Amino acid sequence: MGYRRREYDYLVVGGGGLGTSVAYFLSHLPGRTLVLERFYENHPFGSSHGKTRILRTAYAEGSVFVPLVLRARELWKDLNREAGQQIFRPTGVLLVGRRDSPEVDRARESARSYGLPYELLSEEAAPRRFPAFHFTSDDVALWDPGGGVLFPERAIHSYRRLAFQRGVRFRWNSPLERWDEQADGRIRVGTPNREYIAERVVLAVGAWLPSLTRELHLPLRVEQQTVFWFRPRPGDQHRFRTMPAFVWYGSRGEYFYGTPDLGNGVKIGGSQGQAIRNPARRPPPSARELRSVQEFRDDRLPGLSSRALRAVRCLYTNTPDRNFIVDLHPGNPRIILASACSGHGFKFVSALGELIATAAGTGKLSAPLAPFRLPSPRAPRSAFLGLKGRRG
Ligand SMILES: Cc1cc2nc3c(=O)[nH]c(=O)nc-3n(C[C@H](O)[C@H](O)[C@H](O)COP(=O)(O)OP(=O)(O)OC[C@H]3O[C@@H](n4cnc5c(N)ncnc54)[C@H](O)[C@@H]3O)c2cc1C
Repeated sequence: MGYRRREYDYLVVGGGGLGTSVAYFLSHLPGRTLVLERFYENHPFGSSHGKTRILRTAYAEGSVFVPLVLRARELWKDLNREAGQQIFRPTGVLLVGRRDSPEVDRARESARSYGLPYELLSEEAAPRRFPAFHFTSDDVALWDPGGGVLFPERAIHSYRRLAFQRGVRFRWNSPLERWDEQADGRIRVGTPNREYIAERVVLAVGAWLPSLTRELHLPLRVEQQTVFWFRPRPGDQHRFRTMPAFVWYGSRGEYFYGTPDLGNGVKIGGSQGQAIRNPARRPPPSARELRSVQEFRDDRLPGLSSRALRAVRCLYTNTPDRNFIVDLHPGNPRIILASACSGHGFKFVSALGELIATAAGTGKLSAPLAPFRLPSPRAPRSAFLGLKGRRG
């Protein structure tokens, strides 16, 4: 079949975690794929930068996510092998909450219902096993040995490199500005200086989804979050290098999370975000965010230095139920909306990329994507998700 220049079977908009994963899986299908990215590979303006992400299997947001996270972990391990570098590191994850913590209960229920290994640690066992942390007698600690740490920049680079080797083309500094439907049904999209035509389009634009789909009035809230890195005090390095990733749930819905010292210090983030309207205009980190992380660090990780080494800002795109959105555009089923990961989506990017690429190839969403469809008045998705939870 002959192609005219700038005509593609698949056009992926967004070269972050999800877009590059979709592009990688599309590169296994016949057809031509183009990725348009507003900035450049691994830029710091979206949601996928910041060195580490946590992969949990005992899933506090609900057991509906467990099959997806297990598939995602398989695919991350495959990517480790194919890329020839470590993208997933199996450190295990420690979840801590108060004795009546609904998050820890739900995580335990997720693990139990899928027969995943987990341990509830006693008051004596927790500090012996994990001496980096300070526990109190009110705490309950759940050990998720199947979890670990992902390296997002390496993942994105690997997906991009492998997809490119299989013929996918990438255009940096190429924001999609407009799209319309041609007489033959294909989609024409425009960037500031070019137009492209595609059979199918995947919108994996993260925090830019609300502004690109204003007509849909999606109930999305974009939040800026700041994460901080702290150096272990001299003599304390070993405890922080060997500690697992963690999520620490408070009693009022707040939480903190972090990853071990892998050479850059211990990373800590919290749930104190700032709502923003325009992802291009981002406020400086608030004093409140730093203060709440410092208080957590002093209470729970007392061997860390008091000054933050570094602070990085990053964006969440939240739905009201903290779920994801993956669906066909209600106005044009050739367009797939694939965004809004509500602050806990990176771990799933491998499995979602596989499912979304298949959906782009077949024009149909498969059953595992059903929980992520847009809510409809007849079948609100919260009815079958029962989501209330937190993230990390
Ligand atoms: C601080 C923080 C901590 C997190 N921790 C975890 C964690 O521990 N575990 C976990 O699983 N998840 C975590 N997440 C969530 C996870 O990182 C995100 O869900 C995931 O990275 C979203 O990927 P994305 O591809 O949808 O978005 P992005 O990576 O932002 O990609 C969207 C891309 O689209 C591009 N774009 C936008 N508009 C256009 C346009 N018009 N044309 C072309 N390109 C466009 C953007 O430039 C961007 O590169 C965290 C997120 C943050 C911010």
